[in-house]
Amino acid sequence: MQAGIAIHNAEMHSRLRQQQRLLEAVVRDINDGLVVINAHSQIVLANPIGRALLDEQVDSQPIQAQLLALAASIRAEGKVTLMTELQIGQEDDADERVYQAFGSQVRHDESAEPLVAILLRDISAQRAEEKSRTEFFSMVSHELRNPLNSLNGFIKVVLRGQAGALTPLQNEFLSIADGQVEQLKGRISELLEYNRIEAGRLVLDPQWNDMSLLVAGTATRLALHAEQTGLQLINEVDSDLPECLFDSERIGQVLNNLIENAIKATPPGGTITLRSEMHEEEVWIRVCDTGVGIPAEEQSKIFQRFYRAHNRASSKGNHLGLGLAICQQIVVGHHGRLWVESEEGRGSCFTFALPLSRRAAVVSK
Ligand code: ADP
Repeated sequence: MQAGIAIHNAEMHSRLRQQQRLLEAVVRDINDGLVVINAHSQIVLANPIGRALLDEQVDSQPIQAQLLALAASIRAEGKVTLMTELQIGQEDDADERVYQAFGSQVRHDESAEPLVAILLRDISAQRAEEKSRTEFFSMVSHELRNPLNSLNGFIKVVLRGQAGALTPLQNEFLSIADGQVEQLKGRISELLEYNRIEAGRLVLDPQWNDMSLLVAGTATRLALHAEQTGLQLINEVDSDLPECLFDSERIGQVLNNLIENAIKATPPGGTITLRSEMHEEEVWIRVCDTGVGIPAEEQSKIFQRFYRAHNRASSKGNHLGLGLAICQQIVVGHHGRLWVESEEGRGSCFTFALPLSRRAAVVSK
């Protein structure tokens, strides 16, 4: 019997050793950095990549301090996981690297405070690629814009009869060409605008503004456009919403974009209704239409850049799929939120919420 127990123990021991070796090998060989920090801000475990990062000498904020701050904020916010980006080296320098850091609380012992395990993934190559794509877009857009501006100018001169009288047919064809050039100009501006925002150059100028007034002005301006396409634009927004802090040009742009999208997605005879809702800490503005709606599986994707939902084929006009991505960035820049509720065939409701309190309304650049 004793021999049996001894053999069983030996087997258990060997299995445990095997498990331990496996775990050690995974921690050692994974292609990401791993750093584990305890409640006293001490590093209790680091794999070779994690260790190399910790030992690195950099002019900017040392990686160790950044990791300790991340662990502290996971504890302070009581979050189970948190993702952030860490930068090593100076921005735009050849040795600049960007790491995506995933921090998670790890409960290893019921009686002890949880540890924080941080996984660090090098995303520098991805970032560099995104940057060169942005620069490429910017270069191409500028190159296209100059000849297009001149084309636009000449068409207008001819249309005004400054190059001689036009026959009605010539006038009609040139007007079509003029409209197309205007559309192309609009798309190029959209691309440039998106690029600017992507490159972190969205500069907001927040002021205490009257949201009711902004909505009323935009609604009046777009009502005629809606009418021309057989739609009714109704403004039901409360006429005395409290003032809040926002960049009226940028939020006006969001409103404009949402209403124009609604116009494009709604067949003649439909209605677009603007509504407001007051919440404890937010004001909500909703743009609701009775249009084609968005399939459930596409609702989260439409905010991605260049994404155009499949319903677009059945609606009017076409664009680059950048409008909502730009709106999202503007609203998030105000610490707000933008989302959609929609049912295919019945319509969509896009809502943006802006914070009301002074503290939350400190707008980011
Ligand atoms: P764009 O208008 O340039 O295509 P957006 O980013 O503004 O790009 O919109 C992305 C997609 O979301 C659109 O292609 C369209 O399919 C869908 N969409 C946006 N607004 C509505 C709406 N009110 N109703 C139905 N679909 C919409």
